[in-house]
Amino acid sequence: MSDPISEKSVTVNCPECGKTVPWTAESRYRPFCSERCKLIDLGEWASGGHAIPGEPLEDDLMSGDMPQNPADKYN
Ligand SMILES: [Zn+2]
Repeated sequence: MSDPISEKSVTVNCPECGKTVPWTAESRYRPFCSERCKLIDLGEWASGGHAIPGEPLEDDLMSGDMPQNPADKYN
């Protein structure tokens, strides 16, 4: 009467390396197989792979706030 197939643990494939990952509470980094693969994926976002065009403008705004010549205040 038992149906081992439906009872079998669900697995997913790690988006980074394709390794089979059991979908359980113990798989902390699911759907990734490990913290390393998770960080690699997040790193792609942070390194500009999905960057929004125009983001470098932030740099201009910040440097614009800086006093170009602080000594002028004393003249
Ligand atoms: Zn992986």
